[in-house]
Amino acid sequence: MMMSYILMGMVHDSLTLQGFLDLVPDEAHAEALFLSARWPEGPVCRWCGSVGNARRLPGRKMLFHCRDCGRATSARSGTPMAASHLPVRTWLIAMFLMACSSKGISARQLGFWLGLQYRTAWHLSHRIRQMMASDDPVLRGIVEMDETYVGGGPRTRSAGDATDSSSGRARPKGRGTSKPLLLTAVERGGAVHARRIESHRTDAITPAWRAWVDPAARLITDALPAYRKLGRAHPSHLTVNHSRRAYARTDADSGERVHVNTAESYHALLRRMVVGVHHWVSGKHLDRYAAQAAHAWNHRKRDANTLISLLARPAEPLPFRVLTA
Ligand SMILES: [Zn+2]
Repeated sequence: MMMSYILMGMVHDSLTLQGFLDLVPDEAHAEALFLSARWPEGPVCRWCGSVGNARRLPGRKMLFHCRDCGRATSARSGTPMAASHLPVRTWLIAMFLMACSSKGISARQLGFWLGLQYRTAWHLSHRIRQMMASDDPVLRGIVEMDETYVGGGPRTRSAGDATDSSSGRARPKGRGTSKPLLLTAVERGGAVHARRIESHRTDAITPAWRAWVDPAARLITDALPAYRKLGRAHPSHLTVNHSRRAYARTDADSGERVHVNTAESYHALLRRMVVGVHHWVSGKHLDRYAAQAAHAWNHRKRDANTLISLLARPAEPLPFRVLTA
């Protein structure tokens, strides 16, 4: 009862940091808020799937005993919070700070604010980024797709190192840098998705395109050959030829503005986040930074719904050893 009242209040008001801290004055309130977002219909047994028929066991671990199958489920299991020793309240405050800052927060800053060691804050921030990753919603209407290189190592390798490490072939200029490659799809006036891809080839782009883009959408891309095949699945596919410095034009038949400037705006947001806050990003972490930038893009209002959607979102645990492997 108390929690539904709190959630209602959060949804309808824009939420300040002070207002948020008032909602979670202690660990009990933080746990209750987390539980109401994760299990709005009541505890879900991870073993038999029964809903709302479990009794909470005493203690801080948020363990629930299922009356149907007799086994115990932790509310943290199946989330990036599994195996974390941090209080739920610390998680929630970190999530609030990260979800509500447009350019992100460095692990050092987060650690300073929350009184955590750097290593702990770094792991925490990556697990929250993991929660931000999502292939929803499906992109409709006019969808721009574009690719870019982000962060990573030097722009080009020295001559003696100018080979593709996987194939051993010499890399071409421009599209042959050692930086990780990011694929972005964005609905004009809508949401964005981005993910690291291994190459510019069709088979590297297809899975993300299939997960993100409604076949009824009208597609706009650059002139990369890989898009030709994908474009045939859409009612229209218009291309802008960057190599000819044609960054925007109006299509004579449809009257549509042909450009990928929206995707480039997202790339600019991601770069501000990576360069401005983190200075550098390793290719193996790029997907999570891209998810954070996409989350900031997709929740520009940054109200309480942002936080609730994060809490309710299923995401895999992310152990420290996996992050550092
Ligand atoms: Zn059960």
